[in-house]
Amino acid sequence: MATSTKSHKLITLNELTEKILSYAPDADIALLRKAYYFSHEAHCSQKRKEGTPYIGHPLSVASMLADMHLDVMTIIAGLLHDTVEDTETKLQDIKEIFGDEVAFLVGSLTKLSKIQFQTREDAQAENFRRMFLAMAEDIRVILIKFADRLHNIKTLQHLPPSRQRRIAQETLDIYAPLANRLGIGWMRIEFEDTSFKYLMPAVYRDLLKKVAKRREAQEGYINEVARQIKEKLASYDIPAEVSGRVKHLYGIYRKMQIQQIPFEQLYDVLGLRIITDTQNHCYEILGIIHSLWTPIPGRFKDYIALPKSNMYQSLHTSVIGPKGERVEFQVRTREMHRIAEEGIAAHWMYKEEGRVLQKDAKYIKWLRELIQSQKDLHDAKEFLDVVKGEVVPEVVYVFTPGGEIKELPSGSTPVDFAYGIHTEVGHKCVGAKVNGRIVPLRYQLQSGDTVEIITSPSHGPSRDWLKFVVTQRAKSRIKQWIKAEERKQSLELGHKILETAFRKRGLSPSIIKSPEMDEVAAAFSMRSREDLIVSIGYGKVSAQQVANRFQPEKKEEAAAEEVLLKKPLKKTKDIGGITIKGVDNILYHTAHCCYPVPGDRLVGFVTRGKGVTIHRHDCPNLERLAVDDTRLVKVDWTPTGDRTSITKLNVETMDRPGMLAKLSALFSSMNVNITHLEATSTQDGRARFTFFIQAKDKAQLLKLTQKIASTEGVFRVRR
Ligand code: MN
Repeated sequence: MATSTKSHKLITLNELTEKILSYAPDADIALLRKAYYFSHEAHCSQKRKEGTPYIGHPLSVASMLADMHLDVMTIIAGLLHDTVEDTETKLQDIKEIFGDEVAFLVGSLTKLSKIQFQTREDAQAENFRRMFLAMAEDIRVILIKFADRLHNIKTLQHLPPSRQRRIAQETLDIYAPLANRLGIGWMRIEFEDTSFKYLMPAVYRDLLKKVAKRREAQEGYINEVARQIKEKLASYDIPAEVSGRVKHLYGIYRKMQIQQIPFEQLYDVLGLRIITDTQNHCYEILGIIHSLWTPIPGRFKDYIALPKSNMYQSLHTSVIGPKGERVEFQVRTREMHRIAEEGIAAHWMYKEEGRVLQKDAKYIKWLRELIQSQKDLHDAKEFLDVVKGEVVPEVVYVFTPGGEIKELPSGSTPVDFAYGIHTEVGHKCVGAKVNGRIVPLRYQLQSGDTVEIITSPSHGPSRDWLKFVVTQRAKSRIKQWIKAEERKQSLELGHKILETAFRKRGLSPSIIKSPEMDEVAAAFSMRSREDLIVSIGYGKVSAQQVANRFQPEKKEEAAAEEVLLKKPLKKTKDIGGITIKGVDNILYHTAHCCYPVPGDRLVGFVTRGKGVTIHRHDCPNLERLAVDDTRLVKVDWTPTGDRTSITKLNVETMDRPGMLAKLSALFSSMNVNITHLEATSTQDGRARFTFFIQAKDKAQLLKLTQKIASTEGVFRVRR
């Protein structure tokens, strides 16, 4: 039993050429030899940390690339990868001697390592970003970089511990997830286990011991299971290679961490892998396994019908084997096994044309999209977070109504799906049907779901969506929209507030557009007039302060305003109105004193830093707030779609059993949700209920009030 590894051992140039000729008989060996001597000479004065000649490093890198059966140009680039970076060699020389292709690969690798960084975190993130960009151009750049890194971490023992840890951490953070994403299973395992060894030596050694013990205890048993299945498959004439497999150490560690369980409770440390010839045989073998032993529910996974996003395919199942012990099986074809091990490298292996195959186009597309969606992000750290988030291998596959398959990270909702189709579909999304049924927007999509998005042209996203969307694409699009919308509304609002303030002082509102406004904006440390007006709209800057710059307030007036506490609420007709168009929770908040709903007569109050709070026009609190009436605005609130607002109803009834049930039934008969309820009994045999409900608008509320009022036993209903 062994995990697959490709060891790096120092080989000679002749061994390297033999290796290449074994799979690429017409490779340009003369050019390869030239590259070897060129690299040897360029690095002649350098030594590796361990004291051996430097050429050992590029030679090892080239050897790994040959193990991956890559084309000879890639291997030549592997031999030359450090020459431009570390020696006097010019890229132009490489171009003249080895041609454009090799020069491109070496040039990309040099660029990749040439960037200057502020902090280590920046370095990682920027490095990652560069790699993606390079990868989108030519995946071989990454394969060489991977081989380079693999040889470097394999020879870490010669470095001081602090550098060991830094390189190991970077390998674990960046190289391993990337190798996984590209499906290069063996490399991911090497990256993870070697980094793990340097980062947590004690944990590593402990697990190593435990796994060895487990192996000793179970090997006989696993071999017995293997013998039984082999015998059975032979009797059915199904070709199969059965072998034991051990989960890699970092994989074990991660599983223990994620599931919060001790090693003793992990059942899939040891398992069996069956490799056969055809896909049909895979399913037949699965059937035979399940007929021999009882499968454990929930453990069967069909990655053949639904491959992982890195193209991994296999059938996984766990059964209760002989003597009641669990055994995990992986069943796959030889080709699937090759893809599981080599991933994208399998597609880059030497072939006549040497160009990208159709299958690879999927990766390249994924990369392009990722880079595309991130090109606005200047912050490399943010980019890294994004990529790490997206690299999570667990995905769900869902269908469009047209039967097209879409891949999304698991936990995705219809909103993620909608943004995945198009930004506008996301923005206008109001509902979704999954398999023909209406579902909430926060519904978590399952593999196999058919998803249909319901849109409305007048609709915009809600801030609440940010609480449940999982794709970075949806998150950034929603945030962008909210930001733009907030600014637009604040600008409009700020304008109106400022106009009112100017009029009050007898100033012309046209000042807002005058050059003096730019100076005032600068005095408030704003970049532009528009920024200043937006800040007024947000309530961050008061309109009075701005008006004062043009005409200082008279003392008596200021004093008068302070004692205006008793002042009745002024009509708001000279204050511009604002219209809410279904935008909730963004710039507008409904007041939790009077709980307004669409259809009520409303007044908005500009709250510092929070935009507008909407009150009913007769709300008692408004009188107190009306001291600064430039902060009042008229509000028109148009109900949209099925949107509801929380409001409350006070109901006074006779205190008798069944009253509450009767009222509740009435609410639900009108499709009104009760979110919260308060009830008290009074001395005189009455009951008082306060229902907090989700109402659509005033019309619905009125109808509801009438129905309640006409119910037997109800004395009074009011808001
Ligand atoms: Mn190197």
